[in-house]
Amino acid sequence: MSTCHGDAPRAGLLPNPTIPPPRAPGDRPIIVAIVGPPNSGKSTLFNRLTGLRQKVANFPGVTVEHRMGKAKLKEPHEVFLVDLPGVYSLNPRAEDEQVTHDVLKGERADFPKPDAVILILDSTNLGRNLVLAAPILSLELPTLVLLNMADDLKQRGGKVDVAALASELNCPVALISAAKGEGIDRIQQFLVGTAVRLNAPPPKIELPVLQDVPKCRQWAAKLGVRASYQAPAPPLWTRRLDAVFLNPVAGPLIFIAVVIGVFQTIFSWAQPLMNGLQSAILISGSWMSSVLPDSPLRSLLIDGVWSGVGSVIVFLPQILLLFLFIGILEDSGYLARAALIADRTMAKIGLQGKSFIPLLSAYACAVPAVMATRVIENKRDRIATIMIAPLMTCSARLPVYTLLIAAFVPNIPVIHGVLSLPATVMLGLYFLGFLAAVVIARLLKSTVLKSNRSSFVLEMPPYRWPTWQSLGLRLVDRGKIFLRRAGTVILAVAVVLWILAHVPLQHGATPPLEQSVAGLIGKTIEPAIKPLGFNWKIGIGLITSLFAREVIVGTLGTIYGIEGDEHSLGLQQAVHHDLSVAGAVALLVFFAFAMQCFSTLAVVKRETGGWKWPVFQFCYMLALAYSGSWIAFHITNIFLR
Ligand code: GDP
Repeated sequence: MSTCHGDAPRAGLLPNPTIPPPRAPGDRPIIVAIVGPPNSGKSTLFNRLTGLRQKVANFPGVTVEHRMGKAKLKEPHEVFLVDLPGVYSLNPRAEDEQVTHDVLKGERADFPKPDAVILILDSTNLGRNLVLAAPILSLELPTLVLLNMADDLKQRGGKVDVAALASELNCPVALISAAKGEGIDRIQQFLVGTAVRLNAPPPKIELPVLQDVPKCRQWAAKLGVRASYQAPAPPLWTRRLDAVFLNPVAGPLIFIAVVIGVFQTIFSWAQPLMNGLQSAILISGSWMSSVLPDSPLRSLLIDGVWSGVGSVIVFLPQILLLFLFIGILEDSGYLARAALIADRTMAKIGLQGKSFIPLLSAYACAVPAVMATRVIENKRDRIATIMIAPLMTCSARLPVYTLLIAAFVPNIPVIHGVLSLPATVMLGLYFLGFLAAVVIARLLKSTVLKSNRSSFVLEMPPYRWPTWQSLGLRLVDRGKIFLRRAGTVILAVAVVLWILAHVPLQHGATPPLEQSVAGLIGKTIEPAIKPLGFNWKIGIGLITSLFAREVIVGTLGTIYGIEGDEHSLGLQQAVHHDLSVAGAVALLVFFAFAMQCFSTLAVVKRETGGWKWPVFQFCYMLALAYSGSWIAFHITNIFLR
């Protein structure tokens, strides 16, 4: 029988850690890959083994992310773990699988071939999971097979003969619980063993090599069948809950209730936190301006940097809450069911069920939404989803909508006691974005992004309680990514804007806006935006808001010399004075459609691995915004005549 070579031939016979000779300087670090099917507990194990010593990174050129971290081992052993995307097989179908396949085979130029593999399988679903053992073992890398969820298995009365499996696979096997931390010492022994072996001089004896892939598959299949007899049926609770959640009538109703509930909660819980954060930023800003001497530098720091970065950081609570909910839905197992339920409706616009959650997230912010599209394996569906996500009414549009609606729309009832005219206009704007998204999705999916509709394959994991550790780490990850952006892109934009608005065209003191570089830019684009009913001042706002929509409120404040937010009466009056009703309608439509968010573009570039799609997105949305505003301006004028 063929064998997988390694330093530890049997469960329980792992080598005792001995102090290795020091590695030659310049040697590359030892890398052990964690591989397994989705939901087998890879991330939980990875977090358990590395703690917070980890980094998320993208493989260059693709949208796939991996995490790298240093294992917590006794000094002087140093082993890096890489958490690869979940796979069911090594026949690459989706991009994720391709990456895992290429890394394990050492076929990626940008990533070294791992020195050893930890294969983690769900012990409660061995029948299916074991199929992955054959291709992994045939990679001829030292492999430790982990049967995770031991606690769950035990609770359900299931049993696995670990020793028999180890002797069949001829490599170490351990039954563990990543969530409970059981059996972790075994894994650490394996890692230390790997480090010891790699640091030691090469072994004298030739190790037998596993080459017989068909045979390997045979026994994996055989074992899979055998194991599935031992493995228990889905737990009673999963069957009971699925009977309700996937019921043809109750299922969709519960789904709608969950969506509304999540949506509602995010907005209502986030609002006080956002208000608090906003006040903290305002108060600290005015404190700083009271202690700093009056100078251009103070203005740059406070009006430029502090308020610019602050206006973005304010969205942090909303983004964290959104990811908390997505995390709970995903880890509990409900998200897979939600995607299944949404599948048929999404198919009508050419997309699939998995597009649903990202699009829902986009109502808070397109940035996390674009990141959330990672669950979609079909690349064309994924790109189509990314392309339409920013058309959903994100929260950054709200300050702009609030300002313009308050300034132009009289507060009269449409349906007495139920709906006012301002609320109707606001709802109309939400609907406008949604409608545009549906049309664009259909267009894209029937032309450039056409693909065969893949049958819906998504394994339904059993329902499980999410763990705080996994939720917490997710939030830390996303929070870091978001703050890093605010600290780089937004900071740079804020500084540049401030400079443009304060640098005079001629030498002299701080100029009125009209004579600043920003003023010049506004005047330059005025001819292009006049047909939409906008003047040069709105033009400056349009330019500044290209980077982030909500910036226009602050910009208009600066332009009219009025301090305040979108609720400020002075600002509303000033805007009313400067813009016709038709111009206001056109401006609302412009904001509904235009891609005014540098952060989204940056994240789309990152996720699609190049500039092609973000540039396309920017252009099509601008074209849509321009033509939409033009039409809105003219139609409104006809009505008002
Ligand atoms: P991944 O997709 O392979 O990275 O899997 P995760 O680490 O996200 O785990 C999937 C789900 O299984 C999460 O809800 C985990 O909390 C849960 N989980 C992971 N390990 C265990 C375990 O040992 N026992 C139990 N009961 N649940 C676990």
